[in-house]
Amino acid sequence: MAKEVQPKIDEWEQNGCYDKAVFKRMGDLGFLGLSYPAGYGGQAADIKMSLVFWEELCRPGALGFPMSVMVHTDMASPSLARVGTPEQKERYLKAVCSGAKVMAIAITEPNHGSDVANIETRAVREGDYYRVNGRKMFITNSTRADVVNTVVRTGGAGYKGVSLLLIDADTPGLSVGGKLDKMGMWSSDTAEIVFEDCLVPGTNLLGKEGEGFYALMAGLERERLSACALSYMGAQIALEESIKYAKSRTQFGKSIIGHQVISHLIADMATEVEAGKRLAYHAASLYDSGIKCNKEVSMAKLFCTEMALRVINNAVQIHGGYGFVRGFAVERLYRDARLATIGAGTSQIMKQVIVREMGLR
Ligand SMILES: Cc1cc2nc3c(=O)[nH]c(=O)nc-3n(C[C@H](O)[C@H](O)[C@H](O)COP(=O)(O)OP(=O)(O)OC[C@H]3O[C@@H](n4cnc5c(N)ncnc54)[C@H](O)[C@@H]3O)c2cc1C
Repeated sequence: MAKEVQPKIDEWEQNGCYDKAVFKRMGDLGFLGLSYPAGYGGQAADIKMSLVFWEELCRPGALGFPMSVMVHTDMASPSLARVGTPEQKERYLKAVCSGAKVMAIAITEPNHGSDVANIETRAVREGDYYRVNGRKMFITNSTRADVVNTVVRTGGAGYKGVSLLLIDADTPGLSVGGKLDKMGMWSSDTAEIVFEDCLVPGTNLLGKEGEGFYALMAGLERERLSACALSYMGAQIALEESIKYAKSRTQFGKSIIGHQVISHLIADMATEVEAGKRLAYHAASLYDSGIKCNKEVSMAKLFCTEMALRVINNAVQIHGGYGFVRGFAVERLYRDARLATIGAGTSQIMKQVIVREMGLR
């Protein structure tokens, strides 16, 4: 990250996306298949290995590029590894691990975000193909992806009518809209994907018809833990930047860290980061032990993402006017971290899950 990503990150932020060649490079280094079986080019490691990887991805100080990698490794591909046929894994999972193909996941639609069970994109079986029509919104990696794991409706209303289709990005009828001009996460591309009479081979159905919702839900822990790492690392870097700045900035005859209000603010920030990280590692330990941890993962996701907003907000405050200026790390982190309470399940949805897991609804 320090040698090959850090020097490029500003350029990627300006361009609104990473350079695709970095995926191949990461694949060659063995980074992209940490959790996948060795037979497909992975390392079959535990989730704590992924936590460390996610943390290091964030080190260059921009959260967009890490998010794009996490989408590829831990949001778009887990259902392929879980329910894909041997042929699908041979064709797609190997390419995910090697970085030869970039993967996106298309769940969200213009009219359906949190309410995944009610998505409208239709896939109608016609002989050996599915005819797909619909629109997907806010899709990460969409302008770079080679394959899109697409959530479609093959059956009736509700979650039982939902299936997953692996759709090659060059399939006629699939088009990608212009990149969305976002508040933050600039080194990650986000766009709309439109399907107009897009014919997808029936062999690209992932899992069974009508079981797509379950396959998606089974991967949520990984997705949410990656959002935790993104958030506590954003906060950690903002904390480190704040300490550096507070030591070097002099006001009223002494460095501002010498003003107790500032040093105590830093103590609070450090405590919050530590608490978030420990919650995430605790949930990861449960996950690695095979213990049900939906509640703990949701608590960690809720806490880490909201905590990052508080901590980075304080980091901007410690930087004074400079914290508001482009080129200062905390300014970018402030914008980037804002997404985390929205993506991978909003804070409100996390609370719904926690309440449900507590048996209160
Ligand atoms: C930069 C970016 C990248 C993204 N990448 C992807 C991607 O790669 N693939 C993908 O499929 N999607 C992606 N998304 C979409 C993201 O997952 C959704 O934005 C998110 O799920 C929320 O959906 P929504 O925006 O439609 O908000 P809505 O679901 O409409 O929610 C709006 C508000 O209502 C609240 N709300 C909704 N339902 C309830 C409820 N039952 N109880 C209480 N409050 C509720 C929400 O918490 C929120 O505050 C991305 C979004 C962004 C901005």
